[in-house]
Amino acid sequence: MLKLGIIGEPLSHSLSPLLHTHVLQRMSLAGEYRAYEVPEAALAETLARFAREGGTGLNVTIPHKRAVMPLCTTLSREAQLVGAVNTLIYREGGWHGDNTDALGFRESLPGLIVDRLPGSQVLIIGAGGAARAVLAALISLKTAQVMLAVRSPEKALNILAEAERMKTAYQSPTELGLVAWEEAGHWENLDGVVNATPVGMAPDLDRSPLDWSELQSLSAGAWVYDLVYRPLHTRLLTDAMSLGLETIDGLGMLIRQGVASFERWSGYSVPEQITRELHPLLTDALLAQARPSAG
Ligand code: NAP
Repeated sequence: MLKLGIIGEPLSHSLSPLLHTHVLQRMSLAGEYRAYEVPEAALAETLARFAREGGTGLNVTIPHKRAVMPLCTTLSREAQLVGAVNTLIYREGGWHGDNTDALGFRESLPGLIVDRLPGSQVLIIGAGGAARAVLAALISLKTAQVMLAVRSPEKALNILAEAERMKTAYQSPTELGLVAWEEAGHWENLDGVVNATPVGMAPDLDRSPLDWSELQSLSAGAWVYDLVYRPLHTRLLTDAMSLGLETIDGLGMLIRQGVASFERWSGYSVPEQITRELHPLLTDALLAQARPSAG
């Protein structure tokens, strides 16, 4: 019996219970996956109780991805490099902290884009946990140059130091650079842009981290990836689509990181067919959540 769940705050709209319940059922495995809304002060007690009750594993989401790290007895290399834990596995009397966000991002990138990364210049907007996962993924894929657009200068220094460790770990030649937030769109010849901020997320549907003219300065054939998946078609992506740029929404990463967590907990690999079924399932759930409720 796989006793699974997610801890975070708030969790009312989390898609993870739907995702994992579908995978459990399709793989005919006995188990459950529940959402546990937990404040930071109750994290240690919640993890101890979940373990006592026979818990197998947990996902960790905003705002606890860093706060759970000291509660882990071991950390995977990716969790250490990204500096965040999104997957907890209970084994040998302690919690093992792992991170599947970088892998989720890597696996959600189309193969043609991955092939071009060693000659590409990519901009990441944001300096939070998701930005660090994207940075680790791009460095591991030997991207030629990664620029970071950050709002807070103190976070910029931290993330650059972490990026140096990632380069060493992945033996990657990636060149790194920083740009001020206001200058994010003034970079010509970018081959790809990743929004790793919540800008454009519902209810702020009219907001975008790059405006129309800034998008126009991207290379012909550039791609734009928005980690936000609520809505699926953010302002950033609809603007980019209308300019003929390739766009990628955040749902693929959400699915891939979830499936990777499930594989770590269960020890089984999830067939590609089941992973593919998750896309329409979660898209319908997002559309249903976005509809104004009757009455
Ligand atoms: P986080 O740790 O809170 O970091 C958010 C980053 O965005 C910070 O650098 C923050 O700047 C910046 N930011 C926030 N509001 C901003 C604004 N109004 N203008 C400019 N910058 C702003 O959050 P996170 O975990 O990295 O998540 C970021 C986004 O990615 C969220 O929308 C999340 O839902 C999404 N995400 C998606 C996936 C997926 O699977 N698709 C996975 C993880 C996250 P400061 O540092 O200055 O505060």
